[in-house]
Amino acid sequence: MPKGLIVKALSGFYYVLEDGQEAAGEQPVQCRARGIFKKKGITPLVGDRVSFERTGNGEGTVDEIAPRTTELIRPPIANMELALLAFSVVEPDLNVQLLDKFLVHIEHAGLTPVICLTKRDLLKEADDDVLAAEVEQAAALYRSIGYEVLITSSKWREGIEQVAARIAGGLTVIAGQSGVGKSSLLNALIPGLELETNAISHKLGRGKHTTRHVELLPLPAGGWVADTPGFSQLDFAEIEAESLGACFREFGELAERCKFRGCLHVHEPDCRVREAAGTGDIAESRYEHYVQFLQMIRERPRRY
Ligand code: GDP
Ligand code: ZN
Repeated sequence: MPKGLIVKALSGFYYVLEDGQEAAGEQPVQCRARGIFKKKGITPLVGDRVSFERTGNGEGTVDEIAPRTTELIRPPIANMELALLAFSVVEPDLNVQLLDKFLVHIEHAGLTPVICLTKRDLLKEADDDVLAAEVEQAAALYRSIGYEVLITSSKWREGIEQVAARIAGGLTVIAGQSGVGKSSLLNALIPGLELETNAISHKLGRGKHTTRHVELLPLPAGGWVADTPGFSQLDFAEIEAESLGACFREFGELAERCKFRGCLHVHEPDCRVREAAGTGDIAESRYEHYVQFLQMIRERPRRY
């Protein structure tokens, strides 16, 4: 039975590209999922590695789904390795609270985040020292925690090669709020791709290419990048209070030395994380966001 990758899911069809056929320019096979999946409550996802069968006329059935290495729910996508977190430095301004929220979700899902600060050209044009220092500081902070930070301008084609090199050969999903330049970045990474790039027409749904489904796009140097309708509901619904700390990388070893096991690093005595936040070893903004997110988790409506 041939094996392949689901590159698109739309209206109950799964588009499977057979392994090794991508370079040959082969079209994906339009597949239905076998009934057995429905019975088991399993939905195939874009990114799934599958076994499939051709039934003729370019159609087929998905017969088996390989175990997933990672899984995101919104957007629904499997087996992504990297999440490129796109945040513009201006228009909209860099929002580090939202960045930390994305980081928590991505860490929790087990993907490797790579931070991509976009629209650098606007920062240079603004010629604003205070703003430039803020961006420098943010980049330095996240690098000190151990995250990769790339800075790009799709307009000036700056930093695009670094992004291309970093994501080549892998499976990457781009995340970030509307208008930060995700489509522009994808267009810069993939010659010939012409995604509509205008936040306003996205919102009104009038774009030529308004993404309403998840789709994997092949990268020139191999690998795939997911174009998605966006990440919605970063509401911590899947994250428990006890596992939030583990989503803040720099808490790691310190948290192991807190006096109490299961320390939530807020009011507990002899808390190494809170101490580190007090001395500045953990950045104030990071600890503040941790406390805010913990509060959000505690206040979320219970689901029974
Ligand atoms: P998306 O909603 O995240 O896909 O963002 P888009 O790619 O549609 O970009 C939103 C707006 O920002 C558009 O008007 C783009 O032209 C603009 N934009 C995107 N990247 C850059 C950039 O590197 N520099 C500048 N100056 N504008 C950009
Ligand atoms: Zn603690």
